[in-house]
Amino acid sequence: MSTKLTNGFASPEAVGEPVTIKGFIETSLIEWEGKIVAILFLPGCNYRCSYCHSPHLVYSSQDMETIPTESVMESLRKRKGWVDGVVISGGEPTLQKGLKELIKRLKALGLKVKLDTNGSNPKVLEELLVEGLLDCVAMDVKAPLSEEAYSKVTGGPCDIEALRRSIRIILNSDIEHEFRTTVCPGFLTEEGVEVIAREVLGTKKYVLQSFRPNNCLDPSMLEVEPCPEETLKKFKEIVKGYLGHCFIRGEPHH
Ligand code: SF4
Repeated sequence: MSTKLTNGFASPEAVGEPVTIKGFIETSLIEWEGKIVAILFLPGCNYRCSYCHSPHLVYSSQDMETIPTESVMESLRKRKGWVDGVVISGGEPTLQKGLKELIKRLKALGLKVKLDTNGSNPKVLEELLVEGLLDCVAMDVKAPLSEEAYSKVTGGPCDIEALRRSIRIILNSDIEHEFRTTVCPGFLTEEGVEVIAREVLGTKKYVLQSFRPNNCLDPSMLEVEPCPEETLKKFKEIVKGYLGHCFIRGEPHH
């Protein structure tokens, strides 16, 4: 049965099975550093970030063609040996009940699995990690962890403690991971970025990525200019006071 939050968002329990795949990129060299991967896009999200670049997956996935899981598996089987892994992205993949079974099938093919998540579903995240089904997790930390700051970005109520639990779960796991923040004008201050850095103390990878005004969930965001490069550099300097491993997406760091 589907559960609705008061804001109309589907709750993390509002899931259906089997897994629904709405996008499949057969090969990417940039989604997982050092690896050749395929990318799967699963529809649905419990947030409504105004700058989201996947509005079709969040709002109107019913208008998108569903890609049969079997055809994805067949394609991956054919590439066995030269694709290292699969990135499961969205939307928010942990909303789908069939996620675990999908990952088990990918692992059975010998593929590594990276999960992109907004961190709102620590229960699923923990389950997947405990069962050894993930090789890498990338979690958004969209704002300082307060209801006010976070809901400003996500467009509705957020379970801050759930987000904090996801951060702890990831930090306590020994798998490769990344926390990342989209730097968007009006959403993040110098104080805010410092608060975020303190929340993810101990991480081996924290990434600042600049907002880009294209294909945004809220069309008014198309008028917003990205933050100047100096702002990202300033934020990076602030974060470096707490974390040794802070990068700006797209900036060489080796
Ligand atoms: S940016 Fe991510 S968390 Fe936000 S609405 Fe889009 S898919 Fe959901």
